[in-house]
Amino acid sequence: MLTIQCPECGEKVPVPPQEVGLWKRPDGCNLLRFTCPVCGRGSGGCLGEDALELLRSEGVMGIDVPAEVLESHDGPPLTLDDLIDLHFLLESDGWKRQLAETTGEGWVRRLARVANKRKAAV
Ligand SMILES: [Zn+2]
Repeated sequence: MLTIQCPECGEKVPVPPQEVGLWKRPDGCNLLRFTCPVCGRGSGGCLGEDALELLRSEGVMGIDVPAEVLESHDGPPLTLDDLIDLHFLLESDGWKRQLAETTGEGWVRRLARVANKRKAAV
């Protein structure tokens, strides 16, 4: 059992190692996440190397987080109609230009990477 001080309520709380999430972000932050049993809020923060080693010695396993997980997601949710429109757009000529005009170049590069991976897998 780990004892973690909740950054939200300040209580030192017992947390089983299997209920602690540890993610290595692309920016180098080792992000600890847990749900505080006292205040019920999801809490966490970036850990220093000492704290990280201590958690690992207690059996907490970390995972690498893809950069896409940490991107800002402030647009409306994707709908089924959006997905169907995207499907037909990707089958058309000039889809890269059309996407770049409406969504910016970043999306075009990401979609091109996905399309290339799928072609390589086939
Ligand atoms: Zn708390």
